[in-house]
Amino acid sequence: MGFGLAGEEAGGVRITDLNPAHDVGASSWYVEFEGHRLLMDAGVHPKREGRESLPLFERIQSDELDAIAITHCHHDHVGGLPVAVRRFPKAHVLMTELSYFLVDRVLHNSVNVMVRQRDELGIQEYPLFTHTEVDEIEAIFQAFRYQREVEWASFGKLRAGHRSPTVEFLDAGHALGSAGLMVRGEHETLFYTGDVSFRDQTILKGARFEDVQADVLVMETTRGARGVEPGFTREAEIERLAEAIREVQARKGAVLIPVFALGRTQEILALLALLMNSGRLPRQSVYIGGLGRVFTEIYDIQAHRTHRHHSNLALTEALDLQVLDRRQLEGIKLGGGRLFVMTSGMMNRNTAAYELGLRMIEDERHGIFFVGYADPATPAGKLRAAAHGGTVEFGGQDRVLTRKCDLREFDLTAHANRDELLDLVGRVSPKTVILGHGEEDARAWFREAIRARYPRVRVADSGPGETVEA
Ligand SMILES: [Zn+2]
Ligand SMILES: [Zn+2]
Repeated sequence: MGFGLAGEEAGGVRITDLNPAHDVGASSWYVEFEGHRLLMDAGVHPKREGRESLPLFERIQSDELDAIAITHCHHDHVGGLPVAVRRFPKAHVLMTELSYFLVDRVLHNSVNVMVRQRDELGIQEYPLFTHTEVDEIEAIFQAFRYQREVEWASFGKLRAGHRSPTVEFLDAGHALGSAGLMVRGEHETLFYTGDVSFRDQTILKGARFEDVQADVLVMETTRGARGVEPGFTREAEIERLAEAIREVQARKGAVLIPVFALGRTQEILALLALLMNSGRLPRQSVYIGGLGRVFTEIYDIQAHRTHRHHSNLALTEALDLQVLDRRQLEGIKLGGGRLFVMTSGMMNRNTAAYELGLRMIEDERHGIFFVGYADPATPAGKLRAAAHGGTVEFGGQDRVLTRKCDLREFDLTAHANRDELLDLVGRVSPKTVILGHGEEDARAWFREAIRARYPRVRVADSGPGETVEA
């Protein structure tokens, strides 16, 4: 141990943004770190299709990647992992223990979705990987607890006597298993937030990023364009949601809450369970999707490993959960006040939320309630922008609908508010901040705010394939 690396390989940090577009997009960062090479996340872009959705892996010149570290199991962070492993078969693949229980479900589901998109939308490049490939790469996944330093240099380098940099997974409070990555070398340190929530959600407690300091900070900026109203409380927001559900159900309309299967689904189910327990909502069935049900089970089973509230609240026992497959979904009647908590959060084509949306948008009895982020170019993003009585290109130009349903937004986000991230910059005290995972206006707010408050910190905006020397 401890020989260090010779020549031009030693020292320095270079970070290349592999997101194929300059937006929230797909998270994937290639880090050259004191002569070692790390890939942080390998996501796919939610509104691109086929190979266009993948990170720009071709920008990585070297075939020698030491490790791939995954922050959490959302598609925009992990959906391209099998393609990354195919390209870099010798890399370690590191994640949290909790992500280990989720990742194979996420990837197998991706294969199913891609096969369906090939058959129904004619996207010939799909699937980008197969079930067999997912099963085979699982054998190299390594899982670690939070707050443990793990060496990640290649075995070859370790055998040659090099000292390995380390990575530590810090609980990010965003979804089950989510983590920020603290990377430490002999001279350099880097911290990557992944997606982070500093505030407690209904189930998950907020991020544990205390005492993090680093030379380089790679930061998500999802909510940079959005401030928090004075007097805002999550509790009042939940009360407002309960009231909205009661209103729709009083007129026998259906309620749809479009969500991601992992994280959003369980947080919404938990607050529905608490609302029913306290009599603020009548006891009733909740309709969910199959994958949402699987992750709900894992949330319950892994409660003891999770930094969370209501440890004894088993969602699958507290609620009457009705799983709908695609065929049942087509036939189900929407009258009578049914409550759907279904994927996808962005209401992408070929998902349950999209199919329900097609049937609900033009009927004023129904309510569609948004509780999380949706990219503006997705069906959910377009719908949110539509005025009552206005038209929306919900499924492209051939699916123009008139919005008549009740449509509301509730701020129950799993992402940090911008002021909280600005405070994080002060605590981490980096030389360089790299802004990612945000739309242009969100990044612009951070650029200005960081320059004004921390004039000595260098702010680097990233772009597709661009490299920052830190
Ligand atoms: Zn996420
Ligand atoms: Zn994300």
